[in-house]
Amino acid sequence: MSEQTRYDKVVDLALRRGLFYPSSELHGAIAGFYDYGSVGSRIKNNWENCWRGFFLRRLGEPFVEIQPAEVAPEKVFEASGHLTQFVDPITECGKCGAVERADHLLESHLKEGFEGLSAKGLGALIKKHKVKCHKCGGDLKEVSVLNMMLSTRIGTGKLSKPAYMRPETTQGVVVNFKREYLINRERLPLGIAVIGRAFRNEIAPRQTLFRMREFTQAEIQVFCDPSELAKHARFSEVATSKIPVVLAKERKKGIQMVSAKALAKEYGEVYAYYMARISEFYASPGLRVRFFEKNEEERAFYNKYQFDIEYEFEDGGWREIAGFHYRTDHDLAGHARVSGQDLSVNRNGKRVIPHIVELSFGVDRNLLALLDAGYREEKKKDEMRVWLSLPPAVAPFTAGVYPLVNKDRLPEKTEEVLQLLRNAGLDVFLDDGGSIGRRYARADEIGVPFGITIDYDTFKDDSVTVRERDSTKQERVKIKVLAEHLKNKLNK
Ligand code: AMP
Repeated sequence: MSEQTRYDKVVDLALRRGLFYPSSELHGAIAGFYDYGSVGSRIKNNWENCWRGFFLRRLGEPFVEIQPAEVAPEKVFEASGHLTQFVDPITECGKCGAVERADHLLESHLKEGFEGLSAKGLGALIKKHKVKCHKCGGDLKEVSVLNMMLSTRIGTGKLSKPAYMRPETTQGVVVNFKREYLINRERLPLGIAVIGRAFRNEIAPRQTLFRMREFTQAEIQVFCDPSELAKHARFSEVATSKIPVVLAKERKKGIQMVSAKALAKEYGEVYAYYMARISEFYASPGLRVRFFEKNEEERAFYNKYQFDIEYEFEDGGWREIAGFHYRTDHDLAGHARVSGQDLSVNRNGKRVIPHIVELSFGVDRNLLALLDAGYREEKKKDEMRVWLSLPPAVAPFTAGVYPLVNKDRLPEKTEEVLQLLRNAGLDVFLDDGGSIGRRYARADEIGVPFGITIDYDTFKDDSVTVRERDSTKQERVKIKVLAEHLKNKLNK
């Protein structure tokens, strides 16, 4: 039997411990839909709050958050270009009818990337290399394109109107730009953030959270005056930061550490500034990422600059978990044209259509990266210890609290300790079933940083045993300083 990869182990753990699981499984799950369980929901909420904490508060940028609807009428996507351009190349097997993405099929055959190549070009390559159906070996039909949006109708009968589930959170921001601009004192730059669901009819959903049909994005569209992209007021704070980039024109050189200052020469200070900030965001949980620049053929139809932010999964593959884009005035100009409304703003007596610099994070892919980076196992005698070394800020709880036995006033003492920690704002849970070792193991598997045991000595010395997840080291800590002690450790 083949060795399980780290990714397989993470997925096993996720199912076993309620991080995530296939949606509607009871009735036969549909590929590409996953539900977050009780533990996973906590981790996801925590990640989203860390993201808000960093980008919307700590940076001190003029960023606001909104919650636009997930369904929008067809006109929105006519304006954004998604109706005609948000397509994937596909090919169908003439024998078994299986549909595959033509570029992915070629990629797995020839071991190189074909993103951005036209349907015609892909078709020619399939013929040249005699690529056959992956499933049955049958002959493949001509390559065509398929729109990836999930469609629906709003209303009933003849009066119903076509609509789409949003394929990205961006358009909800763009259609509201003018209102938010006025509400926010007509200031540029203005960043408008959304954390919410996006829907794509992916042809080949795969790797659980990695390619889903319904997923969560955390995005900020920064609306800027295009004549001010060369300078950023706080650029000096990041000028010397080194950013790991793979540049489109120097791909052969691999990852290069380039200063924000050098990048600003090519892309302007505003763009380089946010690259440095995104780099900082990933440095704090210790996720090693690189900024992989897409060339003209590979870029999304709306981007002038595009860097995929990639994390190297343990199985060796660098994969995109976020994106950083310069969308120019593509969106506002499109919406102005289709709606007939003026979406320009007054800048010192001149009418200007703001340009968008976009920070786009796939929440689910970021969680997968954190799980991949945090997965640990260690063989001790015949037992395998498995734990998730998650950063405390995203861990589902701060600590589990465990009475040694469920008698002799230990449950009451435990309740006292739980209440004390809850009052101090810590997220703790009670586990009073099974041996202490099993309780530690369960909490380790979901990444809880501390275990606190209440035993008979607690009545004598007013102390508890605190065990750390990663080192498994144990120490006695006085109950009266316990909350402080944990908080100090968390901040280290
Ligand atoms: P895009 O709009 O294609 O640039 O996507 C922005 C981000 O959303 C990407 O960097 C991914 O992290 C995430 N993403 C895109 N498509 C999917 C998908 N099918 N499933 C999960 N995450 C996705």
